[in-house]
Amino acid sequence: MARRKKIYEGKAKILYEGPEPGTLVQYFKDDATAFNAEKKAVIEGKGVLNNRLSEFFMTGLQSIGVPTHFIKRLNMREQLIRQVEIIPLEVIVRNFAAGSMAKRLGLEEGAPLPRPIIEFSYKDDKLGDPLVPEEYIIAFGWASQQDLDDIVALALRVNDFMSGVMHGVGIKLVDFKIEIGRIWDNDFQRLVVADEISPDSCRLWDIETGQKLDKDVFRKDLGSLTDAYTEVARRLGVLPSNVTHRPRPTLIN
Ligand code: C5P
Repeated sequence: MARRKKIYEGKAKILYEGPEPGTLVQYFKDDATAFNAEKKAVIEGKGVLNNRLSEFFMTGLQSIGVPTHFIKRLNMREQLIRQVEIIPLEVIVRNFAAGSMAKRLGLEEGAPLPRPIIEFSYKDDKLGDPLVPEEYIIAFGWASQQDLDDIVALALRVNDFMSGVMHGVGIKLVDFKIEIGRIWDNDFQRLVVADEISPDSCRLWDIETGQKLDKDVFRKDLGSLTDAYTEVARRLGVLPSNVTHRPRPTLIN
């Protein structure tokens, strides 16, 4: 059988050519990286969990009218997505101080913010994804003012949806990152939520205990990342039946 064409390989995912023009297959790897890939590990089962969780969040967003790149899940590790032109920004939404914001401003981890705060980083691994003001984004032509207004509106809708869903299962959405893509329809563009939404790109804390259920478990060596992501999937009712706590689960690659 002919090997399919790889379009791009990132730290946690691979993109392959899709079955039809304008589509791609997004494959979720088990690789975990942190601190701009200075810390690396293979966490068995992570890709399967993130494929399911991203499907769950993207289909939920679509059901309330937030456009995403997601078409359908294909198997344990792959989903069919629309091909988009990724805007080179990480769009970060914060509800509580944590991570780089807490450090930068000397805020206590978990301190509530007066309102959701959106910030942008320029997607460039070599530069360590630096935080950038809107002025840079517009001046360097990464996005227009109109794009930014639309991105902020999208990000706030994602935040409301995600915060509500997580709250319903006893989890606080501290912050998260999304990426936005353009889909061209002749000369008209549509902005859609792209990439993935998973515990790799969110901070999720148990409301009762404060236990971390996201990639900080890996960043800070707080225990088993698979256990944390499995717990999120279990609470949301999207646990794939063959991800178990066996030492070496059998997974379809
Ligand atoms: O590290 P920082 O506090 O800026 O991260 C904010 C949020 O964005 C966290 O949920 C983190 O997981 C996510 N993020 C990400 N990818 C990055 C940087 C941050 O998913 N490259």
